[in-house]
Amino acid sequence: MVPRTRHSEEKTDVAWRAANIQKRLTSLRDSPSILSINRAVILELTNEKGNLPANFPNRMEQIECLIIGSGPAGYTAAIYAARADLKPVMYVGLQPGGQLTTTTEVDNFPGYPQGIDGNAMMEDLKNQAERFGTDVRWGMVSKAEFATEVGGWHTLVIDETTTVQARTVIISTGATAKYLGLPSEEKFMGFGVSACAVCDGFFYKGQEVVIVGGGDTAAEEATYLSKLCPKVTMLVRKGELRASKAMQNRVLNTPNIEVRWFTETVELQGTKSVEGVKVRHLETGVEDVIPASGFFVAIGHKPNTDIFKGQLTMDETGYLKTHPGTTSMNLPGVFAAGDVQDKVYRQAITAAGTGCMAALEAERYLSTLH
Ligand code: FAD
Repeated sequence: MVPRTRHSEEKTDVAWRAANIQKRLTSLRDSPSILSINRAVILELTNEKGNLPANFPNRMEQIECLIIGSGPAGYTAAIYAARADLKPVMYVGLQPGGQLTTTTEVDNFPGYPQGIDGNAMMEDLKNQAERFGTDVRWGMVSKAEFATEVGGWHTLVIDETTTVQARTVIISTGATAKYLGLPSEEKFMGFGVSACAVCDGFFYKGQEVVIVGGGDTAAEEATYLSKLCPKVTMLVRKGELRASKAMQNRVLNTPNIEVRWFTETVELQGTKSVEGVKVRHLETGVEDVIPASGFFVAIGHKPNTDIFKGQLTMDETGYLKTHPGTTSMNLPGVFAAGDVQDKVYRQAITAAGTGCMAALEAERYLSTLH
């Protein structure tokens, strides 16, 4: 008989214990397929001397449809998925209700003729999604492992503790607007400070405004504001715009847009809302105050996609890339809706529209599996 080495003894022991636990788990659960997915868990358990921890769940939760994010895209997806009986589960993330909860007035979402407070609107969407049975849960998806084969289970970790498996995943994690980080900017958030000219420009009709940024978005938003406001001052840190040539020409040829080159924001001034913007010329150091009641920040957005890196197709700035004309991603059963895949429109209604698309596509995908 060949003497067993310590190493092979360990391996055999681990394999035996894993098989033993597998048998016990099979008797505990009605879905043996979970076992193969959870190989890592089983191996970890083998370190526990073959005993299952007392608090080990009887079975891992498996659901048809998981929605990540609770903005307009997520809630619209939830309404459609719930009405299609997919029994969706939604994790709301760190900003329940999404970006609109940071604004006091939404004027352009259809169905609210008098306008509506952003928080109230998102509460309405939540109530509507729950009315059809959406399971809305607190929690943040901290890790995602997507299946690559059609019909496979996608594995999502919530708050680094709970694991959920879903046949379809709708990603609606949005994008976060970047701000300058000035204390006065935070103080006047919603009271003169905005990161969305298309959303809030109307409230500054007939008033003078300042916009910060030198890229395409800033140029586009400055042009948009110039149609509503008598004067738009654009603050650019460099001596040129990063925007496309066509956008540059539009900005530079609009009489009521003044570009201030080599200029940075020092602070916002005012009592209850913004009344002026203190700026500094970066070459001369000279400071002055531009009278303005609106301060628009257009220095970019960061899509919330870090946890999907390496698995899902993204562009160079991290926006998810769906198949054209759909919300489907590069992996089967994974869909993306809202700002997380849209750096062009970035509106609540477009987010809601793609949320609807994602739920319909998820439903069709699931129906091909059964
Ligand atoms: P978001 O609203 O960005 O929601 C993203 C959600 O994902 C959040 O709930 C967040 O908690 C969640 N999330 C992120 N990561 C995770 C994770 N890992 N796990 C779980 N959840 C996660 N649009 C308009 O049409 N009209 C307006 O008047 C208007 N005003 C605006 C005012 C401001 C100040 C801002 C910033 C935006 C405004 N917008 C407006 C734009 C609008 O808010 C967005 O286009 C819209 O909210 C995008 O919706 P969304 O569902 O894609 O994502």
